[in-house]
Amino acid sequence: MEINLMEKIVSLCKRRGFIFPSSQIYGGINGFWDFGPLGVLLKNNIKELWWREMVLKNDNIYGLDSTIIHNPKVWQASGHTTFFTDPLRECKKCHQRFRADKLTKTQCPECNGELTAVKQFNLMFATHVGPTQDSANSAYLRPETCQGIFINFRSVVDTFHPKMPFGIAQIGKGFRNEITTGNFIFRDREFEMMELEYFVRPGEDENEFENWKEKRLNWHLKLGIKKEKLRFCEHPKESLAHYSKRTVDIEYHYPFGWSELEGIANRTDFDLKNHAKHSKQNLFYKDDEGKEFYPFVIEPSVGVERLTLAILADAYYEDSQRICLRLKPILAPYKIAVFPLLANKPELKTKAREIYETLKKNFSVIWDDIGNIGKRYRRQDEIGTPWCVTYDFESIENNTVTVRDRDSMKQVRIEIGKLVDYFSKEIYE
Ligand code: ATP
Repeated sequence: MEINLMEKIVSLCKRRGFIFPSSQIYGGINGFWDFGPLGVLLKNNIKELWWREMVLKNDNIYGLDSTIIHNPKVWQASGHTTFFTDPLRECKKCHQRFRADKLTKTQCPECNGELTAVKQFNLMFATHVGPTQDSANSAYLRPETCQGIFINFRSVVDTFHPKMPFGIAQIGKGFRNEITTGNFIFRDREFEMMELEYFVRPGEDENEFENWKEKRLNWHLKLGIKKEKLRFCEHPKESLAHYSKRTVDIEYHYPFGWSELEGIANRTDFDLKNHAKHSKQNLFYKDDEGKEFYPFVIEPSVGVERLTLAILADAYYEDSQRICLRLKPILAPYKIAVFPLLANKPELKTKAREIYETLKKNFSVIWDDIGNIGKRYRRQDEIGTPWCVTYDFESIENNTVTVRDRDSMKQVRIEIGKLVDYFSKEIYE
């Protein structure tokens, strides 16, 4: 039944313009997805809410937008050229490749053929910078955004002189040449990450780690994700990434089971120390007493696509009458749909259009005058529009419109002049 839910979400996303397979006219490309007109609205809302929560709300957190390609020495210093690998086994018969740690049998799951021994496969996409293609010009597409933060640490400290603790946050593309992709947008080869590096005094790291765990879980709850679908999962010591002292995932119960939504890692002083060593630059933080030290780093890191999938799965609702995305209004691609009761009555259409134009100055709004009102409601329910405003014959008499609520399907009459206030309160409550 849950698998069925996944199919329904994929189909809704395609049918209504949320998410399309990338390069579809050429048969697609595995692990790449394009966000359509509605998908990009939803995704932008998610990113904006994260930015507001992490950067705008905090005096001590700074934003950054670094490049996707760094000097390749960055990835040597960070350990990625050696350690950013997944274990791989290949079928000797059909040559399909699998992530060894995800295999449940010792034979090929596709054709039962014999599998090779485990090899370590580096997940970074390599490319070349400039017109010659030799090893001296090779570079990588970043597999995580945080190295851009570490290599700008000195510049941010020197320009803003932040006091401990402080953070640097970034949203941007990441690329991983995953051995196997799948589960729709859950595991992609190109995706967006929202990452905070929070610099703290050594010794205060464990406390701060606990703070961020709670803060991040609460943020997901604030987005409207159901509490029972979220849980923490502690990484066992033996499976920690090479830089991590402790990692706790926030897992979501996706239609295919519990899986990582966000990772919170204690990266210690690993990255700053190694960049200082490899770059021979001073990356110490100097406090007011003149004491110099490498801060420890707490990193909450979440993928936009994984969060989008969790939000869609969580909001999906269906009964015999309709399909509905019960998105929090703040996340909905369109907050309001505006209709004239009848499309062929100019006295209704002109006025409805005026309301549409006014609301559009304040909110993301959609116009619809096709088909009957019931069909229009269904169409809006399916894309998660929280309210539908209809200008009808009574509107001509008393300057009110009906406002129909997506979840309760109840209708109330509201004065046209009060609509902006009404929706502002409802959306930003
Ligand atoms: P997994 O164990 O699922 O491969 P990971 O532990 O390698 O994930 P992190 O390195 O912790 O992932 O990445 C931080 C976040 O980035 C993840 O919590 C996830 O939201 C997102 N992310 C990582 N890899 C992918 C991917 N291939 N596609 C989409 N999102 C991803």
